[in-house]
Order: sequence, then C-alpha cells, then structure tokens
Amino acid sequence: MDLVRGRRTELQKNLVLLGATGSIGTSTLDIVARFPDRFHVVGMGAGRNVRMALEQALRFRPRLVSVMRREDAEWLRSRVPDSIRVLHGDAGLMEVALIEEADLLISALVGAVGLKPTFEAIRAGRHIALANKETLVMAGALVMNEAHKRQVSIFPVDSEHSAILQCIMGHQQNEIRRILLTASGGPFLHTSKSRMKDIRPEDALVHPTWKMGSKITVDSSTLMNKGLEAIEAKWLFGIPIDAIDVHIHPQSIVHSLVEFCDGSVVAHLGLPDMRIPIAFALSYPERLNLKLPALDLFEVGRLSFEKPDFERFPCLGLALEAGRNGDSMAAVLNAANETAVSLFLASRIRFTDIARVIADTMAQHDPRPMHEISEVLEVDRWAREAAFQTAKKKD
Ligand code: MG
Repeated sequence: MDLVRGRRTELQKNLVLLGATGSIGTSTLDIVARFPDRFHVVGMGAGRNVRMALEQALRFRPRLVSVMRREDAEWLRSRVPDSIRVLHGDAGLMEVALIEEADLLISALVGAVGLKPTFEAIRAGRHIALANKETLVMAGALVMNEAHKRQVSIFPVDSEHSAILQCIMGHQQNEIRRILLTASGGPFLHTSKSRMKDIRPEDALVHPTWKMGSKITVDSSTLMNKGLEAIEAKWLFGIPIDAIDVHIHPQSIVHSLVEFCDGSVVAHLGLPDMRIPIAFALSYPERLNLKLPALDLFEVGRLSFEKPDFERFPCLGLALEAGRNGDSMAAVLNAANETAVSLFLASRIRFTDIARVIADTMAQHDPRPMHEISEVLEVDRWAREAAFQTAKKKD
C-alpha cells in the first residue's frame, strides 16, 4: 500500500489532529483506522496523556507529535522511531498546527487553548474540522472573517452543527427561517431547583446519552453547552441568536432541525455516536460507509420535545445574552465558565455557583468589539482572574 512507503493516493487526505487523546481525538482516529487509504495523520497534538499519545504515535506514524510538558516529550522521544519528531508546549502545538502538507486540521482541544492554533491554521489556509466550539464563541467574528478571506472551509464536528449543515445543504441562507437546536437536557433535566445546590461533581459527570470529556459533560449538565452551541451556530451559519430555538429532546436522536421560509422543517436523525459527525467532517460532502448499528425507531419508540427551563438552567440564558451582539462578552462568558467549571470539579464551589460566578463576571465587563486575537486573549485572561476572585468571595 502507498501509505507504507509514505506516499499518498490521490484521494488521501493529510490530517493534523489537535487533541488526539481526548474523546473526539480517539473517535477521529477510529475513523482513520477504518479508512487507511483515505486518511493519513501527519501531525498530532496531545496534552498530558503521554501513554495514549505513544500508543497512537506508534500506530498512526505522524511526522510530528507535540505534548504539553517537556519531560513528557523526552519520555516519548525515547520510545518512538526517529521518523517521528516530538515537540512540546505552545510552540510545539503551533508547529503541528501549521504543518505544510496538511489538508485538514481537526481542532479538538478542549477550551480556550484551541483558539490560537486553530486561528493560525486558518491564516495559513488550512481547512478546519471544528470540534473546539470555544474558538467560535470567543472570536467568532474574527475567525469567520479570516476563513472567508483565506477561502478556508470550517466543517462542524459538533453533532448538532453537523446536523444543521446536512439540513441546509443545497439551500440558500435567506431561505432559512429558524434553527431548532436540540439538547438532551443532561442528567438534571427533572431535578428540582432546591436540590440543585447539592449536586456533586460525580453527579454532573454522568451524561444520559453521550459519552464525552469532563468539561463538556458538566457544560451539558448546566445547559451552558447548548448556549455555547447557539453562539457557534450563529457564526457558522450566519443566523442571528434570536432565530435559534433550543429544544430539549432527551432521546438525543434528532440532532437538530431547520425551518425554511416555506414552512418545511428538515430534521437530521441518527444514533448518538460522535463518529458519524466526525466522519462527515472528514469526508464532506461524501458519506463514508461506517458500518455502525442502524437506528431502530421502533426501539426508540418516542421522540419528545420540551422547552428549556431558563430559571433552573440560568447558564443557557447567560450564553444567549452574551452571544447576541458579537462583541467581547462571549469571550468573558467562556472564560468565566471554564474557571467556574474547574472550581466546581475541584469541589471549591457549588453547582449553582457556576451560573452566579459567570453572571457576576459578565456584570463587571464593558463589552466592546474586538479586532485582534491578542485582544480576545487579553479579555480571556481578565475574565479568568475576575471569575476566580468572584468565586473566592462565595467561599
Ligand atoms: Mg453538541
């Protein structure tokens, strides 16, 4: 096979995978392993899970691998063949993001750290498969503007956005009237308001339908994830926030719907398996034969929808408010949320404090338009510190 000799077939795409050892990263590599003649991994960025990074590097043989810490890079370097260069830190991650021969960069880092390498890859003209929604939440206007300028495509990996893309393919933007963004509702969908303050990290880390990393699982339990996704959808599809309606759909079978100007509503259905949207982002507009279990609607039986409760889930309202104007407020929301979630996971604040820390931080900020990524990162730093101080006062 061509792959073995390091050459690629005409159809083969060179991939760079940032966030290789995370939940999206491992699912992406599962797709790559099923279609070795279609995809070749040329670069991988990982965090602290070096044992998994080693296993992946030996299996997929990228040219470059970057991990977070210097000592982990040394450990890894002594265990991989010389053909694999091992780097570390922000500089290493950036070098991986900018690998010349890449056709597509899969941005699957968690949180704000994903912004800079993703943005620089867009500036270098790489197409993006975007799982890191924080990139668009923090700097949607700048990112979309740059992508447009460089004629870069951004393919959504998030299941809802992949669904929306599939619903609108072949249609004009002015035909779209509304996006119906579905949400499972998370593990506390029917928890009473008075009991919410007692929710522990281990309760929030159990998601009813999706298996994901810890940050996004907590975000799903507060409905912040859906708020971030509404902002993401606003930028990806050029739809105002007020034309995006969140629908709670506990079965996680309908991944979103689009209402058109003629009254037609098109939905996308499928089993909740991230490999489906990931594969579509990798092979767009083609569909790969994934040979996954089929959706059995008789077994599902019932598809239900309900309105989100903004009172029990204040994070959703905060996100929709922060995302409305496209200014620095969404970056503040994101930073305050990341800070509050990590404090909650460390049992330093209560579940209900997450929304309060975010609201207090937002109230301290004067929103403004942003013209550079450095400004976004500055706002991000300010908001993290402000959120941290706000949380401390609640102790
Ligand atoms: Mg999602």
